[in-house]
Amino acid sequence: MTDHAPEATARLVADYDRNWHADGSARSGAPKWAKYRANMLSEFPSPFRGGKDRLAVEIGKFVKLINQLRPDADGSALLGEGGPLSFSYPDVKNVKVSPEMGDLDAVLGEVVKMFDGMPNWGSPLTMCNVVPQANIAAIVASMLGQVFSANILEGEYAWNVHRAELETAGMIANLVGWNPTQAGALYTWGGGGCWMYGLKYGLTRVLRESRDKGVRTDAKVICSQQAHYVQHNASDWLGLGMDNIVQVRTHVSTNQMDADHLEEILKDLHARKVPVAAVVCTMGTTDANAFDPIGRVRSLLDTYPNPPGYGKAVLYADCVVGWSWLYFRDYDFEANPLGFSERVLPVMRKNAQMIREIVHADALGIDFHKVGWAPYVSSCFVYRRADDFEKLMSRGADAYLQARTPYNPMYYTAEVSRSASGSLAGWATLKYFGMEGMQAVLGGILETKYYLYNLFSTQPDLVCVNPDDTGLVTLFRVYPEGVDAKLQFERELKEPSARADLLRHNELTEAVGDKLFEWVRSGTKIDGRYTPYLSFTTGFRNTEYNRDGADPEAVVYALKSFPMNVFITPEIMHWVIRCVRAARDEVMKA
Ligand SMILES: *Cc1c(COP(=O)(O)O)cnc(C)c1O
Repeated sequence: MTDHAPEATARLVADYDRNWHADGSARSGAPKWAKYRANMLSEFPSPFRGGKDRLAVEIGKFVKLINQLRPDADGSALLGEGGPLSFSYPDVKNVKVSPEMGDLDAVLGEVVKMFDGMPNWGSPLTMCNVVPQANIAAIVASMLGQVFSANILEGEYAWNVHRAELETAGMIANLVGWNPTQAGALYTWGGGGCWMYGLKYGLTRVLRESRDKGVRTDAKVICSQQAHYVQHNASDWLGLGMDNIVQVRTHVSTNQMDADHLEEILKDLHARKVPVAAVVCTMGTTDANAFDPIGRVRSLLDTYPNPPGYGKAVLYADCVVGWSWLYFRDYDFEANPLGFSERVLPVMRKNAQMIREIVHADALGIDFHKVGWAPYVSSCFVYRRADDFEKLMSRGADAYLQARTPYNPMYYTAEVSRSASGSLAGWATLKYFGMEGMQAVLGGILETKYYLYNLFSTQPDLVCVNPDDTGLVTLFRVYPEGVDAKLQFERELKEPSARADLLRHNELTEAVGDKLFEWVRSGTKIDGRYTPYLSFTTGFRNTEYNRDGADPEAVVYALKSFPMNVFITPEIMHWVIRCVRAARDEVMKA
């Protein structure tokens, strides 16, 4: 600190005073910084109530701009005008902060332009992946978190906003069948973040010393062959190493973890005194919607505990996609109060039975931004026993912050500051949909999916290739006109002699997928109408003679329809078939 003579200090105070009017605006002789600052006074949201708040004005303007992005009723699957990318990479990065202060409207206008051409998740033509349109309750709730910058790292800065996270823990625990007040929840960064929390929980419980000494033991993470690839991120970033992942085989017909194989693995590790940090059961895989037999896994873990000196392995359920089937846990399938068709009832009942077993998990992950119709980032890691998890993970208090309320998650989270927006989005979704709302949306998608499936069964050149999956995706192939798609696919799936055919039709599938994408991006119309936005997979399963995957090419490519939004109608599904055929004819002509 510089010491000033008293007179000099008094002059500095007077100079500063002279810059301002009483209302905080800058006087004419004030320096440039003070004028900028005065300008910003009118452009930050006012801390006081009043009709002229700039935030309210800008949101009003923004609503008009948002409407410009929305296409007409029969518009394309893209926002705004569509068109090619507006930048070239990496030249786009050659940009500097401008020397002068910007103009608020101009900046926001540019933001709106950035959304031009982005996929419109609410379009009836959009069915490319598990990306839902966000619901209004969640959007508005999460905006409030932005407006007032709630920080849910601790109670002092979140105050009542913490109810969003705490009541999420309770509502999810009740859905699962856990004791709600003993459970806990942390909103975090994606299903990937949830998995990482699950693994960290396991590492800490099993290798106590790792908190201080680091991970020095090759503890194992066990998951199925069909577990999400985020397994690699988590093991890598936590320093355990990807080589410590052990994959359990899955059943060919059900895609579920083979519990007998898991038992072999656990028996072997047990005999060799190798500890297991975590077993991950995927409760609803992204495409096939397979649920691992988590009840059986729990009893196997009890039969083969970790060697003495190590803590108990954590059983984590990756249900980030499949969690919403919990809403059917207690649905009365006999009375069927929502009136679902007999086509979908058994499917729902099966999913509900499978997800029920999730009660055996120690912790689980939920993506509200997938089958929850909420905006990013609103993933939630939920644990059964808050006393165990929070005590294990706690670090000491720190000098910056004081515990002013009973709930201060900063002491055991990976993050420091956490936005409340995710928790508000998740909470608002739970409150808004309620049990029946979510059942209706989820069941409605299933009805739409089977409508498409039933259409395929009547078309000679089309075949659904995942008829036994109970999820929301339809995977299908289109064959050249005149080919019996069902017979031909059967041969390609089973007979090594049809390998050349399989490869040729894989190529056709990819070409059709690319053509459909090209049409969406270029705004091409068929019969005067925009085309649907689908996607494809280059290998959702191996052929039956290639179960071990030794032949990397003997896999099944398929086009994909993931009808996530509520605007998709039966009529659109007919349109999908028309456009898929048009794309096939186009690529076969070439
Ligand atoms: C999507 C997904 C993840 C990854 O979740 P993000 O939210 O994208 O991080 C993990 N597991 C499964 C089963 C998923 O479907």
